[in-house]
This record gives sequence, C-alpha cells and structure tokens, in this order.
Amino acid sequence: MTTQHDCLALDAADPLAALRGQFSLPAGITYLDGNSLGARPKAALRRAHDVLEAEWGDGLICSWNTAGWYDLPSRLGDKLAPLVGAGKGEVVITDSTSVNLFKALAAAIKLQANHPERAQRRTIVTERDSFPTDIYMAQGIIEWLDRGYTLQLLDSWDQLPAALHDDVAVVMLTHVNYRTGRMFDMPAVTAQAHEAGALMIWDLAHSAGAVEVDLRAAQADFAVGCTYKYLNGGPGAPAFIWVPERHQADFSQPLSGWWAHRQPFAMQASFVPAAGIRRAMCGTQPIASLALIECGLDVFDLVTMAALRRKSLALSDLFIALVEEHCGAHGLELVTPLAHAERGSHVSFSHRHGYAVMQSLIAHGVIGDYREPHVMRFGFTPLYTSYSEVWGAVQTLKRILDEGDYQIDAARGAVT
Ligand SMILES: *Cc1c(COP(=O)(O)O)cnc(C)c1O
Repeated sequence: MTTQHDCLALDAADPLAALRGQFSLPAGITYLDGNSLGARPKAALRRAHDVLEAEWGDGLICSWNTAGWYDLPSRLGDKLAPLVGAGKGEVVITDSTSVNLFKALAAAIKLQANHPERAQRRTIVTERDSFPTDIYMAQGIIEWLDRGYTLQLLDSWDQLPAALHDDVAVVMLTHVNYRTGRMFDMPAVTAQAHEAGALMIWDLAHSAGAVEVDLRAAQADFAVGCTYKYLNGGPGAPAFIWVPERHQADFSQPLSGWWAHRQPFAMQASFVPAAGIRRAMCGTQPIASLALIECGLDVFDLVTMAALRRKSLALSDLFIALVEEHCGAHGLELVTPLAHAERGSHVSFSHRHGYAVMQSLIAHGVIGDYREPHVMRFGFTPLYTSYSEVWGAVQTLKRILDEGDYQIDAARGAVT
C-alpha cells in the first residue's frame, strides 16, 4: 500500500523534479492532459514577445533572412530528430499532423506504384481504433485517387499478421493509441510489414517526447507527429514529418507548394522538388507559432528520454495502483495495458458516467479529458507531473465517486 507520505518521498528523491520549474502551471491545478495540449514552457512568453516585437515588429520582412525564419522548419526539425531516432536533415516541422499524414501516405503509395513487383497492390491497412483524422485522411486520398485502393480497418492489433497479404501496399499505424494508451512494438511491426512487402508509416502523435522511439533502428519508412502534445509546442503548433534519407530522392507528394521547390525564389513556372527534407513542405509557415516550439524542445536538452520514460512508467504504475486501491468499488475499468512494453504515457479508465466524472474532476482542479465511448484519459508528463499530484488526483477522484458528486447530464463543450 502506497501512502501520501511515500509519494512525498518519491518527489523528494525524483531527479527530474526541478524540471517543473521550466513550465508555467496555474497554482492549485493538477494537469493530467499534457498528452493533448502540453503546458507552456516559461520561456515561450519571452520568445513570443521577441518574435512579435523584434523580429516581426522591427525586422519586418527582413527577418526571413536575418532572424532565420526561412530555415526555422528544418532547424527545429533537426532539434526534434534525436527524440524520435531520426537523423539530421530527415525531419521538418510544418503543417498539421493530418496534412503531413496525407503527404506521407501519398508518397508511400507512389513508391509502391513505381516498384516493379508491387505496383498492383491496392490495400492500405490501419486500425479501426486509430485517431479518426488518420482514417479520414486515408479515405480522402483513396477516394480522390480513384484507382481502386481500399482501406482495411483492423478490429484488433492481433489481426495484423493475418491482414498482411500480398495486396497490402502500406501499413499506417499510430504507435501509441490516443484512447487506450496501448503501444505497438515498433521494430517488430515494421519488420512484419516489410516482410510482407508493405511500407510502414508511423503516427507518433502520442509518442514524441513521451516514450523512447528509434525510427532509424526500426527501419520505418515515414513518420509524422504533433508538437503541441508532449513536446509542449503550443496550441495548434505545426507538426513534424520524418522522411529517412534513403527515401528522400524518391519522396513525391502532391502538395507541391513553392516552399518544397528547389529554388522558391527563382519563381519558375514549373515545380522541381528540393533535394532534401524541404520537399515535404508546402507553403509559408506560421512563424509566430513555429518559433515557440523551440522553447518546448529546449527543455528536452536537460533530460534523456530514458529518464523520462522511467518516471512516466512510475507515475502511471502509481496511478493505476492507487485507483484500484481507493476507487475499486466504483466500476472503473482499466483500458490501458499493464505491461510496460505495451503502455504509452497516459492511462485510461472507462466508467459508465466517464464524461460527467471528468467534468467534476476538472471543476475540482484535476484536468484530464474524455474520449468516446466512456473513456477518461489521464496523461502523465514526467517533465512536470509529481507523485504527490498523482496521489491528490486519486483522492479527488475517490471523493467524487464516493459522494456521487457529478452531474450525469452535464452539458458538453465542443471539445471534450
Ligand atoms: C492528436 C492527433 C492527431 C492530430 O492531428 P491534427 O492534424 O494536429 O489535428 C492526429 N493523429 C493522432 C494519432 C493524434 O493523436
């Protein structure tokens, strides 16, 4: 049995405890939703001020050159790269995850269509339980291409080996599931896809900055992910796309905007793709938002992913154990795998009145979120979450459940 005293002792011995000082978090709030929107690095306020006042205000258009705006997407891509096992020149931060997935999928389809033995393959495999935008983007591309491609939706991950038949062109999976927190074995699944002659795309939305990822060791083909979740880049900050060096020369995507051109300012009438990772871009980037991502990435210079992962698992183990001990009588069901190798950095419990209970938790200063159907998500971000906060969150949950202190017909906001 773990006591509050034990949690305080864990905090006192926590080598990462000081990192919380890098973030601005309101007093009295336990923030367990860094998996959806990371907290604000303190440095971001100063950076925003500099970008708006000095770079935009004083520098005006000269800042594309003098403040490094032009190279910012690839410079920040290089900074993010080690967090996902990517090489220099292989990552660019640009556009949204949805748009980047579209580019990666289009490029993968094209690579296969140009392959001497795989040109006839027409199946794209993903999970029914994928984050919906991933499915929607695949459906959009398939419908728009109108070349007989079909999307095969797996109902559970153990269906994957059987689904890898010789018509599969591309497998596209989210490494850590947004709802359940379940994590795939990236090297093993990538190898299975390759053995079947398919290309492998990973969505790292809930992995980048949360778990150790080594894209190059896994020999994956493409990857995309968010910067506004565990990387703390800011609301709606641009996403990243990884194109390994071995695929760059053949990487062709249909959103061939001028920023992907070899010489954008040559103003030529025909498109020639940039030689390297810039060919994954499209148009002008949102500099004010992009610049703030650097403040989130800077924090990762102070720590290793291995140390973050250790604390993340310790926090989620503690949360699971405390919920089972203190709230066990209330019909909560653990949705997230117990095995460490299969768990990301958030924990989900389902409850018949999950939405109402989560609203009550938020009203009492414990911020998690809710995903259909019935799932309460609790994100553990070892950069700023403490063990005693986990203790406090479970006590609040226990009190709400014991007292039935939630409104079953709570009105829903546009975002849950
Ligand atoms: C959060 C998330 C997204 C978000 O995509 P946007 O284009 O940034 O809205 C996409 N895929 C997954 C798996 C996610 O978890």
